[in-house]
Amino acid sequence: MSMNLIFLGPPGAGKGTQAKKTVEQCSVPQLSTGDMLRAARKDGTALGKKAAGYMDSGKLVPDDLVVGIVKERIVRDDCSNGFILDGFPRTLGQAASLDRMLAEIDQKIDHVVDLVVDDEELVGRLTARRSCSACGNIYHLQFNPPPSPDTCECGKGLVQREDDNETTVRSRLEVYHSQTAPLQDHYEKQGLRRKIDGGGRGPDEVFSSIKEILG
Ligand code: AMP
Repeated sequence: MSMNLIFLGPPGAGKGTQAKKTVEQCSVPQLSTGDMLRAARKDGTALGKKAAGYMDSGKLVPDDLVVGIVKERIVRDDCSNGFILDGFPRTLGQAASLDRMLAEIDQKIDHVVDLVVDDEELVGRLTARRSCSACGNIYHLQFNPPPSPDTCECGKGLVQREDDNETTVRSRLEVYHSQTAPLQDHYEKQGLRRKIDGGGRGPDEVFSSIKEILG
């Protein structure tokens, strides 16, 4: 049975962490537009160069660029049993493009998992977030500390994302409220939104709520 999921929610709500847990549970790939764009930048592609300025200032990359990468990714073989969209769609325009691309391949979304967390908790989470560029592990310096502030369990160095400084985090939250939050209503009307309290509790507890939805 195929399972097509969207993980919605502000930056820092735990979309990536919960998507990784869901990948293990459902054996479907995680399609993170943020990760794809960061990879494009690292590889120095034309897309990566176009996206860089938007990402560094906490703004959204234009819809046509992001829609293009998802369109190309979603038709690959490993998505034939489903996928988890992590960080896409982020605007009503992207949601409309997604509906069109899914109709073309005769697919539909099953659940929109909406992780709700208040802004001050998000600022605290993001500014203390560290990740491993080798294995992808994500830590919080206080609540889920790595073996040492700059070393991952796998032994490699940890990095702080450039857009996780407080000024950029606050503009990413503003962008979320003005451009992405309208998607809550959009998917509520379609009967697809599953609201999950993502704040004040640990990742495993949040994941048990997600498992109840997935059945
Ligand atoms: P994320 O890792 O999901 O927090 O994304 C990091 C940055 O990548 C965002 O602040 C945006 O600049 C860009 N980005 C990721 N996904 C999208 C999207 N669906 N639409 C526009 N920009 C995106």
